Amino acid sequence: MSTSCPNCGLRYNCVCPRIPQLQVDAHIALLMHENELDRDTNTGQWVSKSLTTSSQHVWQRKQACPELIALLQDPKWMPVLLFPSEESVSVANIQQSSQQNARKPLFIILDATWQEAKKMLRKSPWLAQLPAVHVTPSQASRYQLRRNQNEGHLCTLEVAAEVIRELGDNQSAQQLNDFLNHYMTVFKADKSGHAYQPDR
Ligand SMILES: [Zn+2]
Repeated sequence: MSTSCPNCGLRYNCVCPRIPQLQVDAHIALLMHENELDRDTNTGQWVSKSLTTSSQHVWQRKQACPELIALLQDPKWMPVLLFPSEESVSVANIQQSSQQNARKPLFIILDATWQEAKKMLRKSPWLAQLPAVHVTPSQASRYQLRRNQNEGHLCTLEVAAEVIRELGDNQSAQQLNDFLNHYMTVFKADKSGHAYQPDR
C-alpha cells in the first residue's frame, strides 16, 4: 500500500512533476477562508506552488496577517482585491495605472466559496477598502470537483489564470489551466483508489 504524497496529497497519481513553475509580472496573494485548509478540492494550493510571486494567508477578520500587511505596505506593490462589484475595474485598467505609478499589481484573491468570500468582505473593512478588480473570462468554469457552487463561478486557480491571461501572459495562463485539467482527471482515479488509466 503506497502512502499519499506529502506535497500533492495524491496516493496513486502524484502530480508534483507536472506542477508548472511560472514567473509572472505581479504578485498573487491568496487569502484563504480557514475552511479551505481542510478541503482537498482547494485549488489555491496549486497557484502558490506554481507561481514564484505568490503567497497564501489565512483570513483574519480584524486585520491582515503580518505577512500580508508587509506586502500591503510595501511601496513596490499596488494592492487590489479580486471581487466583482459596481465599482470594480478591469485587470487591464489596473495594469495601466500600476505602470503609470511604477508599481506592480498585487492581486488579492479570496480563496473560499462564493458565500464565504462575501462574508469575509462584509466582516473586514480593511479588505473592503482595497480597490476592486474583476476578470472577464471568456468561458465558464471547467472545475468539476465541487458541488453546490454557482454555475460558471471560476475556481481559485481559474481566477488566477484569468488574471494572468488578462495581464497578457497567455502562455503561463494556459500552463496553469492545463495543470488543472490533468489534476481533475487523476483526482477522480486517485479517490477511487487506483492510478489513472487513460484508456478506460
Ligand atoms: Zn506529489
